[in-house]
Amino acid sequence: MARRTPRNVADKWKLSTKLVRGGTNRSDFGETGEAIFMTSGFRYDSAEVAEARFKGEAEGFTYSRLGNPTTAMFEERMAILEGAPLARATASGMAAVHAALMCQLKTGDRVVSSRALFGSCRYILDDILPRFGVSVTYVDGGDLNQWEDALRAPANVVFLETPANPTLDVIDLKAVTDLAHKAGACVVIDNVFATPILQRPMEYGCDVVVYSATKHIDGQGRCLGGAVLCGQDFFDRHLNQYLRHTGPSLSPFNAWLLLKGLETLELRVTRHCENAAKVAGFLDGAKGQGRLKAASYPGLPSHPQHNLALAQMSGQGGSVVTLEVEGGRAGAFKLMNRLELIDISNNLGDSKSLVTHPSSTTHQRLPAPERERVGITEGFMRLSVGLEDAGDLIADLDQAIG
Ligand SMILES: *Cc1c(COP(=O)(O)O)cnc(C)c1O
Repeated sequence: MARRTPRNVADKWKLSTKLVRGGTNRSDFGETGEAIFMTSGFRYDSAEVAEARFKGEAEGFTYSRLGNPTTAMFEERMAILEGAPLARATASGMAAVHAALMCQLKTGDRVVSSRALFGSCRYILDDILPRFGVSVTYVDGGDLNQWEDALRAPANVVFLETPANPTLDVIDLKAVTDLAHKAGACVVIDNVFATPILQRPMEYGCDVVVYSATKHIDGQGRCLGGAVLCGQDFFDRHLNQYLRHTGPSLSPFNAWLLLKGLETLELRVTRHCENAAKVAGFLDGAKGQGRLKAASYPGLPSHPQHNLALAQMSGQGGSVVTLEVEGGRAGAFKLMNRLELIDISNNLGDSKSLVTHPSSTTHQRLPAPERERVGITEGFMRLSVGLEDAGDLIADLDQAIG
């Protein structure tokens, strides 16, 4: 197999070309669609070849936990898309987050993180890391003064999500990355909400980017997947051996689905954003109607970090809108149960519009005071806007708000 466009050529392609062709590596059959190599292992022409591959002295695959041709195509396409030196695929987004943190942290280390995070990320920082003697300091991500205070002391890792799940806080990537580097920290960003189409954090100096590919990259509700993107030094010193020996490997079949997802990612994200802007505009105008109290979207001028969001996210607000009703949990449940088109589900970035009640599902483990602190009230809902007709979605929300 030697029919892959060299990286330095692919790097010069425009975004759409990278998404469709980046990383493609044809077999001798000359297939146009990427081949699925469902194999756990690989045979060697001789014992000497086996020895050389294990020593890293000869090119070639050895075992699919360590590398697989289909998975490698997905990794290469992700790296090209983001302009990252390297990408490694994982079985889920959480495997990517976990690996990016655990591969580098050790007892006595200190993490500074934004407070509003995906529920399972909070579990890693709140429950797993402290068990190994790693301390975690939280800040309100949108408040640069808090980052400055927290990063006056040395830190090893800065972890953040922007826009944050589910509250849509937007964090200034350049400013926080500069502060983090002065404190000696490696910046790990969960870039799921922005997608690599809208925001490329390495351009702001972030060191490691993680994705749940389950979300927009698959984008069609078919499979789980994740990715860690980083530089060569981080890969050699931390990530490579950690991934090889702990085994959060992505199935070649899922890698193939994700390759297909990447081909249409730009088209879908563009439509997601258009629809989300229309839905957010409707909700913003409907405040006060029925029990609707608030709506938030980084693309709305009323969002507290609207200008920063547009500057950092290619002028778009993303695919997620939030809304809040009066009447607490009962009020939220009533609205959700009245929806006829939009599904109640906790995924996001899917072609189907999905609504989530974070405080009873994705963030239920977070103690109530901490939930309130980050803005996840009982009447708060997250709406992942899909690819349906925006008018149909608005009509569904309109009748559900009542
Ligand atoms: C979904 C999500 C994850 C976890 O991804 P999985 O693929 O479900 O493991 C992590 N971070 C964010 C921001 C997410 O939305």
